[in-house]
Amino acid sequence: MTAVDVSTTVNGALKGVRSVIAVASCKGGVGKSTTAVNLAYALSKAGARVGIMDADIYGPSLPTMVVPESDMVEFEEGLIKPLRYEGVKLMSFGYVNSDSAIMRGPMIANMLSQLLTTTNWGELDYLIIDMPPGTGDVQLTLSQNLNITAAVIVTTPQKLSFVDVVKGLDMFMKVNVPSIAVVENMSYFEAPDTKIKHYIFGSGYTQRLKNQFGIQNSFGIPIETDLAEKCDAGVPFVVSEPDSETSLIYDDIAKSV
Ligand code: ADP
Repeated sequence: MTAVDVSTTVNGALKGVRSVIAVASCKGGVGKSTTAVNLAYALSKAGARVGIMDADIYGPSLPTMVVPESDMVEFEEGLIKPLRYEGVKLMSFGYVNSDSAIMRGPMIANMLSQLLTTTNWGELDYLIIDMPPGTGDVQLTLSQNLNITAAVIVTTPQKLSFVDVVKGLDMFMKVNVPSIAVVENMSYFEAPDTKIKHYIFGSGYTQRLKNQFGIQNSFGIPIETDLAEKCDAGVPFVVSEPDSETSLIYDDIAKSV
């Protein structure tokens, strides 16, 4: 595959999209996709027109986390019609069944841009991009090409994660994308009987981020057994449990973007 300057194509294909929000993490398994999906549905609940692009090519989780109303891939206006659930438009390599996991970096960036530009997103207030984990070349290229409005960085409270968040902030700074929020996932566990919060992985570093980097918006999402269960069942938590305390935190994250 020859290298193409996809940035112009992307800008054209996303002309109906007002904001592109990248949800990124430095490591896999921290809850990036969970955050992307619930942020998207919190925005939709607030009345916005929303799409989710699952760009996590190595482990596409959108098809598991959100089971669309129909999984038939169809075409409209010469483009791929995004799948839908509860009014949110969805696209993932998992839906189009591409054998993408064996591709190398430059091909991945091109393939992702291609899927993004051949999807008929139409008019959207927000396109949420669930980025591949990490801050390497693929992520950097994508961040440059996708004309991202702002980034949300997802992490966990372990000590090493502070270093990770800094890497994420640095990467987006390099490509002039403002990081508008840090989400500390699995921040604490609230005992259902006593309501006492247990900071199992330590007390995190959000204060340090605020002092050192001026990050104003930081959010802590608790370990929530129901959340994992609902995710695995294909219904976003904010849809199934809209009034739970955790869903209200996702609503707050939505207000920050
Ligand atoms: P990533 O996208 O960073 O690889 P995922 O969002 O796929 O991570 O989450 C990994 C697993 O952890 C999933 O099974 C998900 O349901 C679970 N999970 C994510 N966040 C939470 C949470 N706050 N509480 C409980 N389980 C969670």
